[in-house]
Amino acid sequence: MGQERWQFAPITEVSSTVDLRIMETTDLHVHLHPYDYYADCPNPDLGLVRLSELVDQARTEVPNCLLFDNGDFLQGTPVGDFFAYDRGLKDGDLHPVMAAMNAMRYDAITLGNHEFNYGLDFLMKSLAQAEFPVVSANIAKTLGASPRNDQCLVKPYKLIHRKLVDRAGLAHDICVGVIGVAPPQITVWERLNLHNRIQMRDMVTSAAAWVPEMREAGADLVVMLAHTGIGPLRHTDGMENAAIPLARIEGVDLLLTGHSHQVFPSRIFADIPGVDIEKGTISGKPTVMAGFFGSHLGVIDMRMVREGGRWRVIGSRVENRALRDASMTFTRPDQGPRTQPMRSPKVRKIVARAHDMVLENIRQPIGRTTSPINSFFVFLGQSASTALVADAQRAFVARRLADGPFGGLPVLSSVSPSKAGGLGGPRNYTNVAAGPLTVRSLADLYTYPNRIAALKLTGAQIACWLERSASCYNQLHAGLEDEMLLNTAHPAYNFEIIYGLDYDIDLSRPARFDGDGTTIDLRNTRVRNLCWNGQPIVPDAEFILCTNSFRAHGAGGFAGAGPDNVVFEDPAITRDILREYVRTKGHLDIAPQGPFRLQFRTGKSAILRTGPAAFNHIDAISAFAPEIIGVDKKGFMRVRVQL
Ligand code: MN
Ligand code: MG
Repeated sequence: MGQERWQFAPITEVSSTVDLRIMETTDLHVHLHPYDYYADCPNPDLGLVRLSELVDQARTEVPNCLLFDNGDFLQGTPVGDFFAYDRGLKDGDLHPVMAAMNAMRYDAITLGNHEFNYGLDFLMKSLAQAEFPVVSANIAKTLGASPRNDQCLVKPYKLIHRKLVDRAGLAHDICVGVIGVAPPQITVWERLNLHNRIQMRDMVTSAAAWVPEMREAGADLVVMLAHTGIGPLRHTDGMENAAIPLARIEGVDLLLTGHSHQVFPSRIFADIPGVDIEKGTISGKPTVMAGFFGSHLGVIDMRMVREGGRWRVIGSRVENRALRDASMTFTRPDQGPRTQPMRSPKVRKIVARAHDMVLENIRQPIGRTTSPINSFFVFLGQSASTALVADAQRAFVARRLADGPFGGLPVLSSVSPSKAGGLGGPRNYTNVAAGPLTVRSLADLYTYPNRIAALKLTGAQIACWLERSASCYNQLHAGLEDEMLLNTAHPAYNFEIIYGLDYDIDLSRPARFDGDGTTIDLRNTRVRNLCWNGQPIVPDAEFILCTNSFRAHGAGGFAGAGPDNVVFEDPAITRDILREYVRTKGHLDIAPQGPFRLQFRTGKSAILRTGPAAFNHIDAISAFAPEIIGVDKKGFMRVRVQL
């Protein structure tokens, strides 16, 4: 995107013209050093270290720049876990995210939902190290009678006073108001960590209450740091993705968005009323969303004029700069396009020690496996990775429930693959070789810092739970060959396998649910021959189902989830349970055969999309007579399988 993208309003009088660049990072999830800790190899497409080079470059292009982060910075890689769980923040330790942001001279940041994953104390300790304001208007320690009476956890907004240099080289004062909001679901998602220590309000309600105060206090320009995605047009109380209603709030000039890990402007947002992907605006307000894990730097350029002591926005331009574009072309108004190679910046040095400590930590052996553990064929029912997690969960919960009122019930274990392609790409598979198991291997097996939980469910709920999972397959049609096995509208993390049962999935039948869990038709049934202990399951049978707290409280909308049926919760992190399980066993030999089989007709073929690294393990699915067809344009390997 070049200079021609500027959108101008007419200038009515002689005035000073000022260019102000506003930059966004969002959903960094502790991606600092350009490194994939699960694969234990460099990944130059991600991370704040390399983004800092883009920021440095962008700052040379215009005289006036502001830099903001939009939240979800504290959790997401083994670096985040290491500082939260293994090392803690010992006296004098700077959290590497805070150290990097301080060095990059951020002007302000806001909080995302994942900031609360490690509890409030760890968050506040980390934030105390920030040399920039942290704002969030709808997260409160206690709620008052109205939003402006809330006792907010951090400052609801901040007025930033800056001098801007105009095109003639003259300096002018500006007051930029910065306000932040985050999804109110935090109190539900992080209930166990937070112990009711925070309360939340609807994002739009809070922002609409505070913005007028910012204006009254002298804000010339209001920047909204919205840790929320671009979702429904209509405002509903407590909505999770509220960027569109937020953009309609009077007095807000521009929005930085995030949370949904997308890029805005981009074609996926075409055809939404009020959203202009050419101009990069929502309701006429310049808006950006800079991907995730430090994949992009979001840039909003504002052109303003100073008239009669007031600022007026006359134009804007929005772009995202992707790290993936290996050699980047930058445009300077005075010099034209030029190519600038990436340099090793100061931020790399700042995070180097943290990087080294984490590498040492993740490479320590804690056990051995005689068989490889991977997720390449999880959708064919062959996956040692989910089997291992299921075993560890079941052992932990069964032991804890043994002496209680539920001690007599069968304990089942539900697991979805942490890594199984999807938006994460063809390398996004669990792939642990036979040999020593390290912390890194476990992080590869279970990437989320979820907590263990268990539900008490009926046989009918169990069957419906499995229907939700079975909906991730396409319906296969008689007489057609080479249909794609998987419906890509269903993320792999919603493919729950229940270990401890025995069942078939009939792919000739239509799915009961669509990708976001909405019922298509309750009569659609794919799960067949559902048995426990060799006996068919009756609808009113009772089971304990091990899962994680996220799922137990309703994430993904699985049958029977919700607080009423949660019979067990524990602060233990599933990955720590896994670590303890491996340490205790010492030696693992896991059979990859899962509890289900895919069913169609003899001679029916379908195409499985999996990672190219599956090539080395293709013998594991010899029962499916696999034929490798090639690699698609996204880099996934296509395998023809006989069902
Ligand atoms: Mn995020
Ligand atoms: Mg988020």
